[in-house]
Amino acid sequence: MPELPEVETVVRGLRKTIRNKTIKSISLNAPPSSIALSDSFKNKDFKHLLKGKKILAVNRRGKNILITLTDHLTLWVHLKMTGHFFYDHHPQPINKHDLVIFHLSDSSGEKIDSHLHFNDYRRFGRLRLFPQEELWEQPGLKELGPEPLEISVDDFIAKCQSSRRMIKPALLDQSFLAGLGNIYADESLYFAHIHPQKLSSSISKKKLTNLHYHIQRLLKLAIKNMGTSVDSFSGVNGKPGRFQKYLKAYHHEGNPCYFCGHKIIRIKIGSRSAHFCPRCQRL
Ligand SMILES: [Zn+2]
Repeated sequence: MPELPEVETVVRGLRKTIRNKTIKSISLNAPPSSIALSDSFKNKDFKHLLKGKKILAVNRRGKNILITLTDHLTLWVHLKMTGHFFYDHHPQPINKHDLVIFHLSDSSGEKIDSHLHFNDYRRFGRLRLFPQEELWEQPGLKELGPEPLEISVDDFIAKCQSSRRMIKPALLDQSFLAGLGNIYADESLYFAHIHPQKLSSSISKKKLTNLHYHIQRLLKLAIKNMGTSVDSFSGVNGKPGRFQKYLKAYHHEGNPCYFCGHKIIRIKIGSRSAHFCPRCQRL
């Protein structure tokens, strides 16, 4: 699933390509579950509401993409497992997994000059349209925790020390921190030498300081490398990320640990897997 660095890569790609463009028309092939509208839009449809709107800004909050439009509207997109955007100046043949295609014109012109495809073969991705004033009341946005690149080390330590949970599930909880998933949680815990099942409140201040440092270091390095492509992830330009070559723990079970040479193992915590070195990350 795309995590903070992958979503940030998409947001930066969208900002570069679609900002200040106007949605001229839409081709829609999405199942009803992929699209949601505010209750205040009843009797109106997605295509009709978006037609003629200009794209003013593209931002990220956690793993969510927020596209600000004219008339106080926000198109809120979550990529979930396999959703991705692809932008091109030339019309591309329609793929059967293209759920929506936005046909765009530049700020001055009337003519369509580019196309933005939202493609999702597993169809868990969501596109939702809300008036801006309703946006932050929505479940999925209102409960989001702090951004991992913005939280101070003191606030991070206080949050962990007041949690009664194991550290790995806490890091994955979007209301604890918004944006981490399995890849960056496993990698950060690995570099900080913390066992994923360690109780958050029992981890020393020194180790939590180290964990905060590695979370921010790895997220920044991954953004610089356009994210991790271990599955289908690619940017708006269709290019995969490069951060997979830096991974040391995630999907490395059976490989020797970078620090001590012991084998990396994989265990299940709840329904999620965790990759770690049992010698460097002791319970
Ligand atoms: Zn080790």
